[in-house]
Amino acid sequence: MGRPKKATPIVEKAPPKVAGGFDVLPEQHLARGFFLEKLQNLAQTFSYSKIETPLVEDTRLFKFWKEAHPKEALFEMASDDGPPAGRAGKTVMAIKPTNLFSLARAYLEHHYYEKERTSKWFYLSSAAYLNSNRELQQVNEWGFQIFGETSAIADVQLMNLLLKLFSDLSLSSVSLEINNIGCLECLPPYLEVLKNFFKDKKYDLCENCLEDLENNPLNILACNNLSCTTAAADVPVLVDYLCEACRRHFIGVLEGLDELDIPYSLNQKVIGFPWSRKTVFEFRYKTADNQEIVLGQGGHADDLIQSLGGVPASALGFVGSQDQIALVLELTNHKLVAKSKVEVFLVPLGELAAKKSLRLFTELWSHNIVAAEFIGPGSIKTQLRLAESNKVGIALIIGQKEAREGTVILRDVPSGMQELFTVERIIEEVKKRLGR
Ligand SMILES: [Zn+2]
Ligand SMILES: [Zn+2]
Repeated sequence: MGRPKKATPIVEKAPPKVAGGFDVLPEQHLARGFFLEKLQNLAQTFSYSKIETPLVEDTRLFKFWKEAHPKEALFEMASDDGPPAGRAGKTVMAIKPTNLFSLARAYLEHHYYEKERTSKWFYLSSAAYLNSNRELQQVNEWGFQIFGETSAIADVQLMNLLLKLFSDLSLSSVSLEINNIGCLECLPPYLEVLKNFFKDKKYDLCENCLEDLENNPLNILACNNLSCTTAAADVPVLVDYLCEACRRHFIGVLEGLDELDIPYSLNQKVIGFPWSRKTVFEFRYKTADNQEIVLGQGGHADDLIQSLGGVPASALGFVGSQDQIALVLELTNHKLVAKSKVEVFLVPLGELAAKKSLRLFTELWSHNIVAAEFIGPGSIKTQLRLAESNKVGIALIIGQKEAREGTVILRDVPSGMQELFTVERIIEEVKKRLGR
């Protein structure tokens, strides 16, 4: 029983994508494919397992994010179909604004804290929210996340792994900027120091920083506005206010980096996310014309698991944007060539031949021979030239006559030599020529 058929509604013209949305076109996937391959290889070498979380979650999960982003908004939707089974009240759902909260939820919901001392994950997943202008912000995130027991050494290992990844991507001129943002014990007193310090410099601050002065004075340090940077020139540094535990952790990290001869810059403009604690770091790529592109940010979110009702567990991670990586790879003029794995190229001429080639395709595949048909207009000559430029060695041509007689022309693409075979013999012949 099918549903009653309805006419497809007419839209006079397909509307364009919404502001902030973007297509990733097939030709843009070369850089992404290259990145994914390196990422997955490295994750495997360093024992990180892949995880995926849903696009939409119960909005309560993002309370922390909401409080930390008063100007932005979640994409929220109340479920009108009543409460899901087993839960009271209506659920408000939201698209995840970033992956971290969903990862923490999954860690708790599937009891990983009971199963292993440390969970090491990597992920590739999109997130979205509305910015202060109520425009869509979609981020195709990638990242590494560790939950459980971590020490200063884990921070260093994560940075080392990321540097290896950037080097595998042939990205030179990547710099590591590092800071320590303290914890709930040592950060609040420092924020008071900042407030007092900037009170006398109110008139030098930009509009945003002035707004942040009372509730978020740390943001002033990160502001790139020249007059704010000048106002912050001799600001007391957070490192001098760290508690003993944070100070020891920071020293451990810096000593580890020295041990591995990893160069870094201490940078108090790097303040991480609102949920960041202790180490915060960024990797930056310098373009040929000296512009800096942030490849991603890392650090701890050590209160997160507990704030979601879990046991005390450390959370250390790094998050970047696939779009940013693709941009950098394109800027470096990477010689990204589509690697064609096609071994045999099929050229059916006419309708009957096209029908006959269906069976031939299936048989080639069942013998693990990768066959393809180059779709598109063009004479047999252009098609063979395509095969040649794609370095495909064998072309199988079926014309009307061959289709009727059950034969196939095998053409050796580089030499242009042709031979006629019966359909029954062709697979064996192809295998022989491919050295199987
Ligand atoms: Zn501290
Ligand atoms: Zn400012």
